Amino acid sequence: MNTIQSDGYQIFFEDSLSELVTFIKEGKYSRSFVLTDENTAVHCLPLLQQYLGEADNFDVIEINAGEESKNLDFCIGVWKMLIDFGADRKALMINLGGGVVTDLGGFVASTYKRGIDFVQVPTTLLSQVDASVGGKTGVDLDSIKNIIGTFTQPKAVFMVAEFFKTLPERQILSGLAEMLKHGLICDAAYWDKLKTSDLSLPAIELVHRSVEIKNEVVIEDPHEKGIRKALNFGHTVGHAVETYSMLKDANPLTHGEAIAVGMVCEAWLSNKKIGLPDEQLLEVSEVLTKLYPKHFIADDCHTALFELMQKDKKNQNGQINCTLLTSIGQFSIDNICTEQELCDSLRYYAT
Ligand code: NAD
Ligand code: ZN
Repeated sequence: MNTIQSDGYQIFFEDSLSELVTFIKEGKYSRSFVLTDENTAVHCLPLLQQYLGEADNFDVIEINAGEESKNLDFCIGVWKMLIDFGADRKALMINLGGGVVTDLGGFVASTYKRGIDFVQVPTTLLSQVDASVGGKTGVDLDSIKNIIGTFTQPKAVFMVAEFFKTLPERQILSGLAEMLKHGLICDAAYWDKLKTSDLSLPAIELVHRSVEIKNEVVIEDPHEKGIRKALNFGHTVGHAVETYSMLKDANPLTHGEAIAVGMVCEAWLSNKKIGLPDEQLLEVSEVLTKLYPKHFIADDCHTALFELMQKDKKNQNGQINCTLLTSIGQFSIDNICTEQELCDSLRYYAT
């Protein structure tokens, strides 16, 4: 399994942390700054430190764990620490964490002194198969997700399967939803493989295939003008369910759990609107509802969910656009869905 070439940078899968050491040496950086959160500082930093060595050539900056940290206040905190540490334009940021750290760290690096180099060392399954590839960086503002950000590519991405060992099961399942999505939109054989694999600790070969698919799509359409919308399958309904759950539930759904709901609904829409075969709709629903606990969506939430979908930044001209499937492995973008259809899809999920 070799490296994957992305848009001007490489994604490493084998002996990644040694590759990172070589990368730092060759880059002749003035100093490195490792951004962690409170969990990756405990679970992932020690391994990284073994590779970087005891030499005093890097500093660690830690933020609180979780989406609540992904905002401008924390960016200001990190920018100030970079200033205090005397980081110059030849400094390197190493973002060691899940999507929160890679998104925020990428944004901080892309704006500090008009941009310093950064690399991603994603430590969750979701950040390996999704967040660390594609060049989107950013933070939330007033609970609007990812509203402030840049398109900036990292200088390299280093995938380390060992980090999965300390990931809670819910976090594994969260990333898995994106992998299943990759199969559904682009690769039926990969979907079949995922269906029959032990997914409690996904093999790095499976992660590799997912990264390959995400990478191919984003290279073709770096700024989301067309084919990148393929990646939105499950996300129109899914994002609304995720936001609604964040507002209402004491223990909100993870991104992947919400996307799994979204994929069942959007598979139903695919069947009704563009001919996803009945047996494939059944297969998608069965696989997803077996893996993910059923989330209760009462009928009286449908209007609120629909309003959230209307606010989605992916929409244009007030119409709700879905990426759907013509068959497993074949996506179709820009399908306009009505309120009635979307509510019916939620009802299908609920039954
Ligand atoms: P996260 O970064 O919050 O990580 C989830 C939890 O796991 C956190 O508590 C974290 O501290 C902990 N953790 C991380 N690595 C660990 C490890 N190895 N062992 C134990 N615990 C560990 O969330 P996430 O699910 O990785 O990412 C979600 C974020 O990614 C969202 O903000 C989302 O917007 C963003 N995202 C961005 C893109 C993109 O294209 N840039 C794509 C998808 C998602
Ligand atoms: Zn997603």
